[in-house]
Amino acid sequence: MNDNKKDKLPSKWPSGMTIALVAVAVVFFLNLFMTSMTGNSIERVTYDEFVALLADGRVEEVEVQSDRIMITLLPEEVLEYKYQAAEDVPPVPVSFFDLMTQRLQGQQEDEQAVLYTGRMPDPQLREMLDYYGVIYSAAIVTTNWLQVIFFQIILPILFLVIMFTFLRRMVGGMMGGRGGFMSIGQSNAKVYMEKKTGVTFEDVAGQEEAKESLTEIVDFLHNPDKYVEIGAVQPKGALLVGPPGTGKTLLAKAVAGEANVVFFSLSGSDFVEMFVGVGASRVRDLFKQASQQSPCIIFIDEIDAIGKSRDNQMNSNDEREQTLNQLLAEMDGFDSSKGVVILGATNRPETLDKALLRPGRFDRRINVELPDLKGRVDILHVHAKKVKMSDSVDLKRIAAITPGAAGADLANMINEAALNAVRMKRKEVQQEDLMEAVEVVIAGKEKKDRIMSEKEKRIVAYHEIGHALARVVQKDDKPVEKITIIPRTKGTLGYVLAAPEEEKFMHSKEEMLMEIIASLAGRAAEEVQFNTQTTGAANDIEKATRMARSMVSMYGMSEKFGMMGLESIQNRYLDGRAVLQVSDQTGSALDDEVKKILHECYQKAINLLKENEHKLRELAEYLFTKETITGDEFMKLYKGESSWSVTV
Ligand code: ADP
Ligand code: MG
Ligand code: ZN
Repeated sequence: MNDNKKDKLPSKWPSGMTIALVAVAVVFFLNLFMTSMTGNSIERVTYDEFVALLADGRVEEVEVQSDRIMITLLPEEVLEYKYQAAEDVPPVPVSFFDLMTQRLQGQQEDEQAVLYTGRMPDPQLREMLDYYGVIYSAAIVTTNWLQVIFFQIILPILFLVIMFTFLRRMVGGMMGGRGGFMSIGQSNAKVYMEKKTGVTFEDVAGQEEAKESLTEIVDFLHNPDKYVEIGAVQPKGALLVGPPGTGKTLLAKAVAGEANVVFFSLSGSDFVEMFVGVGASRVRDLFKQASQQSPCIIFIDEIDAIGKSRDNQMNSNDEREQTLNQLLAEMDGFDSSKGVVILGATNRPETLDKALLRPGRFDRRINVELPDLKGRVDILHVHAKKVKMSDSVDLKRIAAITPGAAGADLANMINEAALNAVRMKRKEVQQEDLMEAVEVVIAGKEKKDRIMSEKEKRIVAYHEIGHALARVVQKDDKPVEKITIIPRTKGTLGYVLAAPEEEKFMHSKEEMLMEIIASLAGRAAEEVQFNTQTTGAANDIEKATRMARSMVSMYGMSEKFGMMGLESIQNRYLDGRAVLQVSDQTGSALDDEVKKILHECYQKAINLLKENEHKLRELAEYLFTKETITGDEFMKLYKGESSWSVTV
């Protein structure tokens, strides 16, 4: 769907590094070249050879250095002249003389040969030099700065950098290998920059309130001057809060698309790295890049990964804290009149650090809730546009049987339906493809190869009819859309696809009890008919228990506790786990109360089925034979408009 190109930000490292490397190499070779050019070719001689040369009168000049003696020989003519002058010169062994001549042959005429020898502790050296009339001096140490810079500064740094990146790469590789070569401290790992997101508010169905709040931000990005002129301070950031899959990311992109600005996106977990300080430097980097590209939107997805409250944590996490602090500082630091807006998204708002939610930071909170019936219809329409749909398709009905589905689920259903249509070699998606897709998303794929024994299958049929009967007897309305005993991959042996009813945002105590009874009626049917208990009721029991518990602990629907809140919901957008807030004693009294409700409801379910035992058999046997029946078939049999002979 979002198949626009995602340009990875061009990182500065490679080019910067290359320039540095090339510069170093140039300096190094220039240096080598120059030393080889200056002076004459140098050769080493032993100390006794040096003494012999001295005695021979061939040495013109000597320079004593810290560890060696540099020897400059006389040019050949001077040498000859000296020979004639000095007669008391001791004779030199011919072989050695020849050797030296050979060595010097390669020299150009006007060059003086330079030799060197190791410096020996020789107290008579000066006397000797005076005696032979040699010019001597000590070396003045001149520093070759190029060399010093190269060997003592650049080389070690280079070495460290290479070591460090190598290590990091190894670590990165072990952890799933992200981040390219030399990406320390750079946000190039996961910052995505999109010049055009290509998403508009039209692509986001439903969520009218969220869109309305965001429209203002779009307007601000269009013409910030309007706001600056009047002196209105625009919100720096808005936080999109809601369950997974409801379109938070989509909305953020749509804001960028509507405002036609650059969209930077990054996931909160990308900030949290192994090395302390890396996350913080990424934040710094991100804001720097964003301010260069303004107006723009910075979107931090799953912001709870860095924004977790800093207090009440058993083990503090330095890296995350630093990152969060940096984020707070950057948000305070930048000037909102520049047209940079920060959007965050999370499904765990309660864990966020309060500092993030202060005015001047994420001071707007935009709720992105699960879609209602109309919202679901709209979302289905948006996604249906992308596939070929038969005209007979009724998206309203699909929306009606999918309460609680998020936008992502619905998008998924449309796609599943299209896949199903292809599998069936159809040219267009039909209603039955959609129905099948709903079931696939809810219950998984059919397990055709699973062979149940007759007995098991019959038990499942009674169980499912038990659920449906309990509903219809209590409510006198078509209770189900479909009942099936074909097992599916998500672990159900059979199930009842509940019929749509108008969406409710409140439930009465009676309705809740009815629902508990219907849930327990599956097991009740097994008991009434076969006097047995199977594991198939586990989910029903769990659901019934949860409902009974919340009636007592949260909704004030029990006589014993009245309106005492005993539990509260922790993270309402995820699993919605309840947390007990009472003493152990009250807790166990709560358990007793729940048990009482469940027991009473189960008794009612048993009675209800016993009173309708004949219908239970007829319907269950029908389902057993047909394997799948529709709500209408069910109603006809129930009302006696048609019949089915019971064979058991
Ligand atoms: P979130 O970030 O809230 O978890 P996303 O924005 O990633 O959810 O949504 C995932 C996908 O679900 C989107 O790409 C889109 O196809 C679909 N979707 C979710 N909500 C909507 C919506 N309101 N309208 C249209 N499509 C939606
Ligand atoms: Mg998301
Ligand atoms: Zn059941």
